[in-house]
Amino acid sequence: MRIPITMCHGISWQPRPKKERAHLKRLTAERFEMYFRIASEMGFQSISYNDLARWCAGELDLPGRPIMFDFDHPDWSIGRVVEPIMSQFGYKGNLFVNTSPMEKVNNPYYMKWDDIGHLIEKGWHIGSHTHNHYDLDYLAKKDPSGDMICEQLEKCDEMIYAHLGIRPRDFAYTSTTWSQIAENEVRKRYRFARLWIIGAHYKTDKGIIRYAELVGADGDDEIDGGPPFSTRYITQKTDPFKLPSMELEYLIFGFDSYRRYIENATEGLLPSD
Ligand SMILES: [Zn+2]
Repeated sequence: MRIPITMCHGISWQPRPKKERAHLKRLTAERFEMYFRIASEMGFQSISYNDLARWCAGELDLPGRPIMFDFDHPDWSIGRVVEPIMSQFGYKGNLFVNTSPMEKVNNPYYMKWDDIGHLIEKGWHIGSHTHNHYDLDYLAKKDPSGDMICEQLEKCDEMIYAHLGIRPRDFAYTSTTWSQIAENEVRKRYRFARLWIIGAHYKTDKGIIRYAELVGADGDDEIDGGPPFSTRYITQKTDPFKLPSMELEYLIFGFDSYRRYIENATEGLLPSD
């Protein structure tokens, strides 16, 4: 079984530089409605990291067509716009919170702790995403001892525990960055860690490398500019500390690409299989 997993940061409300605007892909409420409708009509049911853990341990059978909907950052639109659309289809998301924006109590662009509490009441799963959201290759170079990454993980986990009473067990790496030292620390604290696919490459402490190389996969990158199709799903063989996720604003933005991505999770062989 292959589990498709999407990622995004909520609706695209942020102002963008003029040069980006002409070819900008924007996630609107209407687009989200379509993504969830397509998945729902194809019979997909959302699962959480707890479900995934129990499946990996052989304790739980997943629905016939499982899917994961991940979100990073406590963006206001996730609670106010996206969750109400998802709940129409019975879907629940997984939210990874970087905690420094939560200290900005008067900033309207971020959720409040109560808003995240509301998502938890709706059945959402909460994970960690560091406190300050530094690039992980940068942190590794700045502090090879690993103390700085540890502080980032600890502070994030402590704030989530203090405000929500949850001890996060799952982690999302920041941006498209990774370092061995970050993964080593992450392995001590969490049960899963998730990467983010927006193209074929990743910024690491060893320089820029192919995503496929990072996750130890064979095969060439695909013509859409992303890594081999086989790396884009969670399977029983996926390293739990290098889970993939497909950003909705990039390779699977188009409804046809999105549909093909989730369809290929259960139907037929992928070109790179
Ligand atoms: Zn992030």
